[in-house]
This record gives sequence, C-alpha cells and structure tokens, in this order.
Amino acid sequence: MTSQSTCTTCPYCGTGCGVLATPDGAGGLTVEGDPKHPANFGRLCSKGSALGETVSTEGRLLAPQIGDQPASWEEALTLVAEKFRTTIAEHGPDSVAFYVSGQLLTEDYYVANKLMKGYIGSANIDTNSRLCMASTVAGHKRAFGTDTVPGTYEDLELADLVILTGSNLAWCHPVLYQRIAAAKATRPSMKVVVIDPRRTATCDLADMHLAIQPGTDVALFNHLLSQSHAKGVVDLAFASQSLTGFSETLDTAYKTDVAVTGLSQEQLSDFSNLWVNTEKSVTVFSQGVNQSDHGADKVNAIINCHLATARIGKPGCGPFSVTGQPNAMGGREVGGLANTLACHLDIENPAHRASLQSFWNTPTIAERQGLKAVDLFEAVGNGKIKALWVMCTNPAVSMPNATKVREAISNCNFVVVSDMFATTDTARLADVVLPATGWGEKDGTVTNSDRTISRQRSVFPAPGNARHDWQIICDVAKHMRFSKGFDFSGPADIFREHAALSGLAAKLGKDFDISGLAQVSDVEYQSMTPVRWPVHSQGKVPNKRFFSDGKYFTADRRAKMVPVTQPHFPQELKPPLFRLNTGRIRDQWHTMSRTGQSPRLNQHYGEPFLEIHPTDAIQHGFLEADLVKVSNSFGSVILRALVTDRVRQGQVFAPIHWTGETAGNSVVSDLVPPVVDPVSGQPDSKSAYVSLSKFNAAWYGYAVAVQQPHATTNYWAKAKLADGWQLELANVNTPESWEGFARTLLRTGEAQCSSLFDTSKGRVRMAFHCGEQLVGALFVDRSPVQMSRTFAGKALGQSGLGVLAGRPSTVQLDPGATVCACFNVGVNTILAAIEDKNLVSVEQISTTLSAGSNCGSCRPELAALLSEARRQLAAE
Ligand code: SF4
Repeated sequence: MTSQSTCTTCPYCGTGCGVLATPDGAGGLTVEGDPKHPANFGRLCSKGSALGETVSTEGRLLAPQIGDQPASWEEALTLVAEKFRTTIAEHGPDSVAFYVSGQLLTEDYYVANKLMKGYIGSANIDTNSRLCMASTVAGHKRAFGTDTVPGTYEDLELADLVILTGSNLAWCHPVLYQRIAAAKATRPSMKVVVIDPRRTATCDLADMHLAIQPGTDVALFNHLLSQSHAKGVVDLAFASQSLTGFSETLDTAYKTDVAVTGLSQEQLSDFSNLWVNTEKSVTVFSQGVNQSDHGADKVNAIINCHLATARIGKPGCGPFSVTGQPNAMGGREVGGLANTLACHLDIENPAHRASLQSFWNTPTIAERQGLKAVDLFEAVGNGKIKALWVMCTNPAVSMPNATKVREAISNCNFVVVSDMFATTDTARLADVVLPATGWGEKDGTVTNSDRTISRQRSVFPAPGNARHDWQIICDVAKHMRFSKGFDFSGPADIFREHAALSGLAAKLGKDFDISGLAQVSDVEYQSMTPVRWPVHSQGKVPNKRFFSDGKYFTADRRAKMVPVTQPHFPQELKPPLFRLNTGRIRDQWHTMSRTGQSPRLNQHYGEPFLEIHPTDAIQHGFLEADLVKVSNSFGSVILRALVTDRVRQGQVFAPIHWTGETAGNSVVSDLVPPVVDPVSGQPDSKSAYVSLSKFNAAWYGYAVAVQQPHATTNYWAKAKLADGWQLELANVNTPESWEGFARTLLRTGEAQCSSLFDTSKGRVRMAFHCGEQLVGALFVDRSPVQMSRTFAGKALGQSGLGVLAGRPSTVQLDPGATVCACFNVGVNTILAAIEDKNLVSVEQISTTLSAGSNCGSCRPELAALLSEARRQLAAE
C-alpha cells in the first residue's frame, strides 16, 4: 500500500473483498487485495485483479439524455419528477415502480426505498437481488423470524465438513473457495462435499461430488434429516427448548423418497455417515438452491438439518447463504425488496409501519407488499405500471422471459434508467437516461455475505456530469416536492439515519442493529474500517454470534423447523427436450458492462456457449464448436457448442452474461420461463426445457478490428482485445461483395484491402491496412473457422500481409484459450509444459509458467487439465 492507495471494496460478488486501489497516473488503477480486510486478507480473484482495466471513461454516459438528445440535469430532473408526479396523481401510487440493484451502495438503496415506501406510498420497489437470494430471505424468515445469516467466513475454515450445494464457489466466490482450499491444505482431515448436477470447477476440492438430479435438494436434505434422527445425532434437548415444528418436519422427512436424487445407496450412505459423524458442519448454498420454483423450501430443508442437530450458533457450524451480488445484503438491510421494510421491519406489521413512518416523519407509508420482479414487469407489460425507473441494472437481458420484458419496457409510458452507460439493452429502451457514477467514483458502504459492512470509496471524481445514485434519487425526490426527507449532506449523513433507524428496529425485536454507528462523524465515516453487524449502541451487550444463546427472532424466541416436501418433476425428459441450467463463468460479471472492458478477462471465454454431453452431441450430430440453436416457446438463441462431460446427458448449461450489446441472438434469459417460487417470488432460472438443433450457417467467420465492429449477422459475438476487438460470426446469407461487407463490419473506412479467395472451399481471407498498419482482418470458412485467435489479435497494428496466412510464419505454439487471466497463460502452453517438463502438480505448473500463482482463480482448471493430461500420458 502506498500513500496514494485507497482502501475500497470489490464491486462484484458477495464475498466483498477489500481492495487497495492506486491511480496509475494514466487514468487507470493498479489494484491489490487489502491484506487487512477480513473477507480476503489480501487475496483477489481474476475479476478483482482486473478492476484497474475497467475504470476507463470510454463509452460512458456523461450527461443526462432525453430520448437520444443530451439534456441538462435541470431539464431531466424536472421531466422525471413531473412524469412520476402526474402519473401518481392520475393513477395512484401503485402505478409507478422502481427496479433497483444489488450493486447500488447501501446509502443509494436506503434513499430509493425511503422515496418509494415513505413518500410515494407504494412498495413497488424491487431489486435484481430478487433473482439472486429472495428464497434465502424467505427461508431465513420462516426459520429464524428474521433474515439473519448466522455464520461468518471463519466458520468455513473452522468446519470439519463443508457442504457446498448449488454453489460453484470456485468461479462465483473464488476468494471464499481459496479460503476453504487453504484451510483444507492446512488440515487435510477437513472434508468437502459438492452437491451439484454439473461437475464444476469447485469439484476439484471435493472429497465427494454428489451429482444429484436437478431440483432434488429437498429430498436429499430430508433424507439427511431422517438419517440424523435414525443415527442418533438429533439434539432432543435443544429441540424441546429452542425449536417448533420438530415432529411434523421429521415425519415429513421420513416419508421422503430419496431415490429421486438419482444417487446410489452407497453415495447416500457415505454422505449421511459423513454428516452424522461430523459435528462441525457448514452448509454453503447459493443460486442452485435459490433460483428454483421451490427455492425457499430447499433453504428450509437445509436449515432443518442444522436446527435438528443444533449445528447452528457455534463456531464451524451453520447454514450459510453466499450472496451473488456485492450489496445484496445491504439491499436486504434497507428493505430494498418489495415485501420488506427498512432494517428488516415487516411490512405486514402495523406497529412496524407506524414506527417507520413516525421515524421518517413521512406523509404516508406503504401498507402492503409491492410487486416482486416478475410481477412488476408483468404489470409494466399490461399497463398497470405507467412510469418505471430502473437503477444500475439491466432487466432487458437479465429477467426471465427477457423478450417479453423488453417489449414491456419499450411499451411503457415513461421509463427512466440511471446507469454508467446509455448503451445497455435496457438504457436503449428508456425515455430518459441519467448518468450515474460507477465503481472507483462512488462513495458509501456495502455489506457482504457474512454481514461485514465495508466502505466503498471514490478514487476518481465523477466523470462529466455524472452524479452518485443517492444524489440522483434525492434530486428527483426534491423535484417531486419531497424536499424535507432528502436533504442529506452526503453518504455519511444517510448512513447515520439508517443506523439510527436500526436501533429502533432492534427495539422492535429485529436482528439488524448498527445503532452503535449512528453518531459517526463525517471524518469517522471516511476512515471506517470493516465491521460486522450487529453493532449495538452503548450499554447493550454485544452478541457477535447469532443464535449462540438458542434464542431466535420469532414471537416465542424458538426457531421453526418447516416441513418441506420434494415436488414432483419430470425425471425422464423425452428427446428432443433438454433441461437448461444457467449460471456464471469465472471471469465475467453479470451483463459484462464492466468486466467486458478488460481484454484479459475476455480471453477465458470469448463468446456465449452451451455445454452439452458428448453422447448427446453425437446423437444430435453436433461437433465441437458447431453453433446450436436452443429454443423453447419463450424464445430462441444461438450458442457455440462446448462438448464436455461436465454436464450429464439430457442436461445443458449456458452462461448468462452475453447481451444484445455483446452478441447477436444469445440472450439466454430469453429462454427462462417466468416461473417463480410462490413463497419468495424468486424466478426459477435453472430449469427451462429446451430443444436443440444445429444452426446451419452458409458461412462462419472470425474477425479482428481496431474499431468496434458493427455486426448484423445471424450470429455474432464481440470481445475487446488489448489493441482492438475480436468477432465471431455466422450467417445464412452470403454477401454479394465480401469486401463491402467486411468494410462495413470492421469500420475500415478507406483502408487498403488485400484478399485471398478459395472459392472451391468457400474460404475468404481479407486484411485491411491503413498505411503499414493492420486495422482489420476477416477469415471466412464453410465450417467454424479454425485458426489461432491469439495470432490474429496480436497482428492488429502490425505491418505486412502475414496475417492472411492465419498462423505465424515461424513455428510457434498457439497458446490457446486463456486459463490464467493474470499471466495470460493459455491451455496449449500449459499442456505442453506438463508433457515436456513432466509436471505433476499445480504448484509445479505455477513455478514453471506463473499460472495460478497470483489470484489463484484458475487453480481448479489447472488441476483438471493436469489430471486429464497425466491420464492421457499414462495411457500412451
Ligand atoms: Fe471481487 Fe473476486 Fe473478491 Fe468476489 S471473490 S469480491 S469478485 S475479488
């Protein structure tokens, strides 16, 4: 850390790593993990390590925009306030809605919620965290009486058994994965079980991988509960003192048919024996549990096992939800969900509503739950919502049935988007786009998955006329003539109000209490170090470990075991149907508006893909790298086939990241039905049924260009490189003039064109030079183009026509797809080193190539490559 460094927090996953950010003097940043931050102790994953490459102001929205015209803030704020005011006056408070984000800071979130619930008088504010962890909130509230995460990250290291279910921690929360991996390396007796239909990178750490049938978690955990009872590890004394619902839940568990999981008797027995014999057990769960039409039941099935065995409220024990987004927890704290009030107060409770209204001194208070995300966009579509404000998120591509959501947004009377970019799929549909600050410019707090509140600090001033989200919300509120409650001097002022309100909520019996921070001065707020809540005000005994006293936040202070049953679902899918699982990849974040700016992060996977089992691929006639049309009644997308036995037969997997900005016809959410968990309202994003067919293009292409390409083909996917862009392409029609097509596509202007045609093979190669320098190249074939992408990308800006060969003139190893993003080490380089230097461990790969020696995010992939390479070498 230098005197120029700023302690801040990573804006991606819910791990909430501390970052030391130092301006490099050229508009960028160097970043390091903060060694003092309790979430990461200096570690960062590939995404966090590349933060410095994402802070450019290129492409940023720097002034408000009305339609496609720049406007002053006064014009934009007046218009937005007037539209919301008149809509409310004519159609009532429930005719407007906010759709907000787990990437807002807590202070932004707090004022947005206050404006909607306390001043407009509706609860029509929901957040993209609904798509991420609403089922956990519902499960926690049913079991504990409040939305309490009982555990801490230390528990992951203290446990003797870590069960990871529905969580690809190695890619989605890499630093937590690294913490568990380090603990296991120090204490090899520690066991890790991964429950996931896919063989993910996380399985590299597992002593046991249970590839259950998708959606059968309830059956598995009910089985674990009945086995806990049968084998005598249920804590009957604890159950009689601290639990309700014990007998009914146990009865239900005994009646569960565990065969639906598809696991063998041996697997079931090994798993339950491990659980029964290991008291210090933590169960980590994430989107594979939450994103389900019965996600809340899955959460309660997990919690039931921990309650029945009293494995909660103790070091190294407990159910542990890891949140997807950087501030999903902060959003839960401020009541950013349509069914909650600030500080975990209950909207259904008249005393809570009255106390909140009195604290805020507001003219009104929302009296009933608002519309949850899927219902909210349904109401936008049917005209019940007439004015919509979307903050810091991209529902046009992230919501289920995204095609219909795009239609709904474009047909809505009035849509405002506040974002860093006017080019997102949602912003392009808005009437007004307001320029918001982004990471590196924002100032406030976030709460991570273990309740640690950290400061996110600005390193750069706001670019152009961009404003902070809390300022924009307060400005709109004031223009709506709600000046009294929004006259904050800064984020510290908002934080103090939120902290004071939490003291009131604690008096009403709630868990969330940071009233001990209600008096922080601006200076103290500026220097605040990470702190885990609760932080009680003076005089109250701190209780840092929730539930250690066997007391919960229900009316009778007992936790509730919830009897949950395994829903029926079609085990055998009839061809051509496949079950589509969706998720994240290691090096991208959500819709890539920030991580997509980093050339090295784009090298891990450069285009959207579909994982399909080799047997299914053969049966359908798909070869590796073919394009596959994936369809159902909701939509149709085109994805690159990645043939792998990581997925099981009958199941396919696609990542969620590509949008209309980065690819053509590849928005995977178009296929996700708008089916939700009836308890939590969370959409089921992992069980769409799809059919597959080969996308028969007349030609396939690969291109590189200095300018950002403009593609209109049936399939395209672009990614930023160090010196330009790369583009994958395919189309059913062949252009009349390849040169004209390439010039428009690659924006080469008057550049000189050199070309090679092999008409018999349908091959075209073109290179465009400005002076000596290559500014674009296009490679076309009748089948997916096979050539070194690395070679073509590096040729940009170089002289000569060597690029037309499609490969280097001297014998050089094509490094292949990037595995280690930190040191840019490709798969072919790694495989060659394993063979040539007889490497037998990941450590040896790191020593030889540096791969895996920095952030460590690629170590599971290195281990998988090593294992497969050693297997093949042994067979030779
Ligand atoms: Fe950021 Fe990676 Fe840490 Fe998540 S694990 S907070 S993405 S550095």
